[in-house]
Amino acid sequence: MNIHEYQAKEILSSYGIPVPRGRVALTSDQVERAAKEMGGRCVIKAQIYAGGRGKAGGVRLVHHPEQAQDYGKELFGKRLVTPQTGPEGLKVRRILVEEAVEIAREFYLSITLDRSTSRYCLIASAEGGVDIEEVAQKSPEKIHVLTIDPFTGLRPYQARKIALALGLSGTLCEDCVELMLNLYRVLLEKDCSLVEINPLVVTRAGWLMAMDAKINFDDNAIFRHREYPDMMDYSQLDTLEINAGKYDLSYIKLSGNIGCMVNGAGLAMATLDVLKECGGEPANFLDVGGGATREKVAEAFKIILEDSDVKGVFVNIFGGIMRCDVIAQGIIEAASEVHCTLPIVVRMDGSKVEEGKHLLLESGLNVQTADSLGEGAERIVKMLG
Ligand code: ADP
Ligand code: MG
Repeated sequence: MNIHEYQAKEILSSYGIPVPRGRVALTSDQVERAAKEMGGRCVIKAQIYAGGRGKAGGVRLVHHPEQAQDYGKELFGKRLVTPQTGPEGLKVRRILVEEAVEIAREFYLSITLDRSTSRYCLIASAEGGVDIEEVAQKSPEKIHVLTIDPFTGLRPYQARKIALALGLSGTLCEDCVELMLNLYRVLLEKDCSLVEINPLVVTRAGWLMAMDAKINFDDNAIFRHREYPDMMDYSQLDTLEINAGKYDLSYIKLSGNIGCMVNGAGLAMATLDVLKECGGEPANFLDVGGGATREKVAEAFKIILEDSDVKGVFVNIFGGIMRCDVIAQGIIEAASEVHCTLPIVVRMDGSKVEEGKHLLLESGLNVQTADSLGEGAERIVKMLG
């Protein structure tokens, strides 16, 4: 789960990590008032669930409140397109108005889960700021990575080694050690999969400060934090993804035209691969899970059909726990309800498969069945061809 920069900064600040003075605004009048409070000169920052805003015009220095208001008017309601948003961009509904800080140096600092070692790792670089992806590609030696032992946690001497490698010394080095240890506490206590400060800066006045902040909460730990669901900004999510969440379905929008309904994440991956191999382009990844009911299958099918990019549907289900006739009923129910005329290919296997196929073929829908994944994928691609 994602949160906005201003929310992440509130959390960092509550753990003793210095952040710029700021106020979040919902209207351009509030932007003006907040700018006045900051003394006129301030930084206006669009709050969206993506980075790369600086280069896309989502972060701007202004010199007086009217200029702040004008910029607010320009930004509110606009879809900001950054390298991380995809071509359709994300709508700006909140703006952070922040004191303009005089920056001397910019660093990159984050702690995230490294799935290959199953451990958290701290990543730091003296080449921070907006181009960290480029640094990682062109000069990986400038990036310092420390794998954290879950038993001992992050130790001060390890943090100090990193701070020294960043070129910090004296009090700044010690402040940085404390900041890293605090960041690690945030990660653990708030159940984060990522905490990232880019840039972490040294101000002209000689203080360390988090100038940007990104936090991802681990979805599996949300039940431990009652306040998290209220922190979510639904305007930043795809409406179909929100609906899928309500029915406990994993749905991810992709860019093709074949809707895919699959049970199990592994089978979903395999389905996408085989579709691609046959020259098809999946429109989504939708996993209905193991023990899905008829209602759940029907909801999943409706979500797929609500996406206007979808020109055909491929269902690939292994009915281990689910019975194939139940799946067929769910599909028929949903497709009839929304008067679906799109081509559908269903590949299923498992208990009551013959009954399921029979129901589908008798349903009057534009449906074909297949016995194997390869055959099904070829068929749907051909039907759309
Ligand atoms: P993004 O990562 O989405 O581009 P950032 O918050 O990192 O957005 O802002 C981009 C750049 O703008 C930063 O690298 C920093 O140089 C500058 N910046 C951001 N906030 C401030 C601020 N409050 N004062 C001065 N400069 C800032
Ligand atoms: Mg940034």
